[in-house]
Amino acid sequence: MDSDRLFDSIRNASAETEFYLPLPAGYERGRTRFVVVFGTVMSGLGKGIFSSSLARCLQDKGLSVAPIKLEGYLNIDSGTLNPFRHGEVFVLDDGTECDMDLGTYERALDQNLSRLNFATSGQIYRRVLERERTGGYLGRDVQMIPHVTGEIKNRLRELALASQADVVFVEIGGTVGDVENAHYIEAMRQLAFEEGQRSVCFVALTYVLEPTILGEQKSKAAQLGIRRLLECGIQPHIIACRASSPVTRKVREKIALFSNVPPERVFSMHDCESVYLIPELLRGAGYDKAVMEWLELTARVDEEAERRAREEWNQYLARLRAADRQVSIGITGKYTAVRDAYASILKALEHAGTALGCKVQVKWVDTSELTDATAHEALRDIHGIIVPGAFGTRGADGKIACLKHARINRIPCLGICYGFQMAVIEYARNVCGLADANSTEIDNECRYPVINLLPEQKKIEGLGGTMRLGGFDIAVKPGTLAYRMFGPKARMRFRHRYEVDPRYIPQLEAGGLVFSGRSPRAEIMNILELPADVHPYYVGTQAHPELTGRPLRPQPMFLGLVHAALCRAYPDFASPLTYAAERAAETPADDRAPDDRAAEDHPTPSAAAARGPAR
Ligand code: GLN
Repeated sequence: MDSDRLFDSIRNASAETEFYLPLPAGYERGRTRFVVVFGTVMSGLGKGIFSSSLARCLQDKGLSVAPIKLEGYLNIDSGTLNPFRHGEVFVLDDGTECDMDLGTYERALDQNLSRLNFATSGQIYRRVLERERTGGYLGRDVQMIPHVTGEIKNRLRELALASQADVVFVEIGGTVGDVENAHYIEAMRQLAFEEGQRSVCFVALTYVLEPTILGEQKSKAAQLGIRRLLECGIQPHIIACRASSPVTRKVREKIALFSNVPPERVFSMHDCESVYLIPELLRGAGYDKAVMEWLELTARVDEEAERRAREEWNQYLARLRAADRQVSIGITGKYTAVRDAYASILKALEHAGTALGCKVQVKWVDTSELTDATAHEALRDIHGIIVPGAFGTRGADGKIACLKHARINRIPCLGICYGFQMAVIEYARNVCGLADANSTEIDNECRYPVINLLPEQKKIEGLGGTMRLGGFDIAVKPGTLAYRMFGPKARMRFRHRYEVDPRYIPQLEAGGLVFSGRSPRAEIMNILELPADVHPYYVGTQAHPELTGRPLRPQPMFLGLVHAALCRAYPDFASPLTYAAERAAETPADDRAPDDRAAEDHPTPSAAAARGPAR
């Protein structure tokens, strides 16, 4: 049966055929191509960075790309995963809690993603089981093939249809051979069969060992990994060999021989000094060309667009390299041992540092044992502080001690989510005289619960996906630092259950704390700051500003922090900071680029529930 006839039989699905899982209505075969990236040999090879850089190369050529990460685990999303084990929980504008790789894609492609870009086995099985309960399988026994694999293909086609992308980039989590990914790999085999060979490009990321005792590269593990993929019925078209140093021609030829892939499509993918160099490395090696040729997309290349995109990117790289100053930023946190738990914060700092011509050196500050007496020592030689998001009680007092130290000693400081809440507590206790102020997350019986559960959270019982999640608009107060950063309206992403209890706002404001951003619909405080004559940079936000920083568009709160840190580190550093929003405000409205990123407000549950009088 050729692909056309096969596809017709899928379209005309019935209980009598093996292919009765419906295609999304309106799906057009061949409109969208697929690139599928598999990992072999081992995990941790930077598959997300590789895939997103390759996607970026295609995007630079003027093609539209839509990535999707397929996770093997059974959780419905990443919201319940411990960042200590799995890296940070990334939050998309639509409220999806997902793997940190989605952050890598958003940053690499400068594109907002949605729930369509993230699937877990849990989501796939849930859909299959729901379909079964509603009689969707026409009396058939429900099986891994064709039902589960059908649902996987369905997810990819839904994304293709919704995004109308030229190329959907599929990243399969884990490694070929894992039990939890077998259904994905089988689905990809079927996908190529149904869509037609030239519509799907299989890329195998593998690993070439270089044991120090031998001093040479060995390809056996890579061969076995790819053999595993071949056993699944998948013939890779491109092989990317991860290694610490450039993979030799001899090794690449050997891998080619064992995997039926022409040597010119077996590439080295060795370590390089910065992830920002990877797109150029891929182009230099010819990966992008190989993908375009396999998918027969070469005619669609916009060379002028590619030249401009590369130029812009290279300017970023040049700034990164030229950065000759250095600031030290302390991050206080519970997960200080695991950098992945703060991946987006580190990236946001890097973007801001690059824009300002400096390197940001991060110093991890463990707050679990920190007190007012020891904060001074722990924060010595630090030019700026970030108090990041957190849950629970551990380290809270240490964070409050850091915030107090930063406030009194005029050290630039940014409090994020939990850090914002701790800043409110610190201010209430030490400036407003509310000695027993606290968050009910920490002490449910405290006298002044300045941080309290969001009213709508009081009714919620389950744990997964139940926080106030996703992108919301923020109304910004004129005349404040936040207004310089964002203008009248900001949009950031949230992930929290607690908020500033509105009963205490008048007292906090009377004490000098400025709430410069609030939710336009509910009484939720979103941004706080201290006036410029009191502190050079003391900012907090209930949101997660780190999630929306992009290399070429650094997030303003991070830019402000790093700039203030530079001023502290280099007393002669006199370059004033003009935020993009300030520049835009000076540009006549007609000359402004249309802002296609402005999204609809994410539906917010009403926060109008009754509260008792202030204690
Ligand atoms: N635990 C706090 C809350 O739920 C802060 C959450 C966070 O930092 N992401 O509101």
